[in-house]
Amino acid sequence: MTDPTRASSSALEPAGAPADLPAGPLDAADPLAAFVGRFLPAGDVVSYLDGNSLGRPLAATAARLDRLLREEWGTRLIRSWDERWMSLPTEVGDRIGAIALGAAPGQVVVGDSTTVLLYKAIRAALDARPGRTEIVIDDDQFPTDRFVVEGIARERGAVVRWVEVDPTLGVTPELLAPVLGPDTAVVLVNHVSYRSAFVADLPAIASLVHEHGALLVADLCHSVGVVPTELDAWGVDLAVGCTYKYLNGGPGAPAFVYASAALLADEARVLAPPIQGWMGAADVFAMAAGYEPARGVRRFVSGTPPVVGLQAMQDMLDALEEAGLDAVRAKSLALTGYALDLVDAWLVPLGVEVATPREPERRGSHVMITHPAFREVVTTLWADGVVPDFRNPDGLRIGLSPLSTTFAEVRVGLAAVREALRAA
Ligand SMILES: *Cc1c(COP(=O)(O)O)cnc(C)c1O
Repeated sequence: MTDPTRASSSALEPAGAPADLPAGPLDAADPLAAFVGRFLPAGDVVSYLDGNSLGRPLAATAARLDRLLREEWGTRLIRSWDERWMSLPTEVGDRIGAIALGAAPGQVVVGDSTTVLLYKAIRAALDARPGRTEIVIDDDQFPTDRFVVEGIARERGAVVRWVEVDPTLGVTPELLAPVLGPDTAVVLVNHVSYRSAFVADLPAIASLVHEHGALLVADLCHSVGVVPTELDAWGVDLAVGCTYKYLNGGPGAPAFVYASAALLADEARVLAPPIQGWMGAADVFAMAAGYEPARGVRRFVSGTPPVVGLQAMQDMLDALEEAGLDAVRAKSLALTGYALDLVDAWLVPLGVEVATPREPERRGSHVMITHPAFREVVTTLWADGVVPDFRNPDGLRIGLSPLSTTFAEVRVGLAAVREALRAA
């Protein structure tokens, strides 16, 4: 990729591109601009607008993977389990907790895919509220979240209570309140909607859920690493999130699960892991008869930790720590705000609609726009090195990852969308 922070933005733009709303001054004033050069070049890509689906790799990760291969694995061999690898899931979990989640140590562990950890967290929460039969979820949640909840309900004889939400917004305490009651066991909320980017009010939802004696499970896939989160202070009970989106852990990198200290310490209602594996047992190498869960969050681990998949995210955690999550959030809002200005100026006149909240505090780090021609437009864009993603039925999702995305790149991408729409 031509580094848009070094090239003048006009050099990247197609002939005849509009001259309004220049990106140059915004990139020049960006305090995080230097981070862009730390990512590996992206070949023919001139505008990467999908960091919320797959974050770009940092150059430092190549060296880290080489070290893993030649040293930790190649020569230390099985000794590395003792020397380094066994503690990696909780060590990296604690760093995610400290840098991105507002979680004190001992509550976060990296393990399986998001889907599997959602299953474990929701099942454990349901089982921790015996006698209660309802799981509350909204109809705009990511498919895997809905499917997992439906599967657990079938398996445990529970009932799914659906909350209908406006797909250009998201779930609110007002929408949840009428559905919650003495039968509510668990409420699952997506912190940032994968479609609209709406930011749910987790602290208010946590209070409401607790008033009814239920547990809140939050899915942080679209917020972790880009929207600051204070899980301990907000009273969230359990949370799960991806590491290959804004934590740049690479394709298939394992997810993390958070459990509150209060829930982990509750002796009366032990949070029981639904998959009782040896790596989540109190004493892993006792090889004893019978399973006793580890006391801490490690009880959510089932089998051998995914060491290879745990590498790349460590470099992004270093970068996020150095940048500071508040600065990352500030740039994210500037990027999405700029994208909305360009959409209003260039695309709304062509019939495009905005399906993302306008108020900055209710907006995550992507912008969803809709138009009936977007399905075909995306094919043209990808071929030209402009990479947003398409979401059924007519949505173009523009994901902006603050440490790797420039304002120039946003401008180049939206100018290309304008050209493609005109040609469609
Ligand atoms: C990306 C995403 C997932 C992905 O789940 P995997 O098991 O990693 O495929 C789940 N939930 C939400 C809300 C997501 O955005």
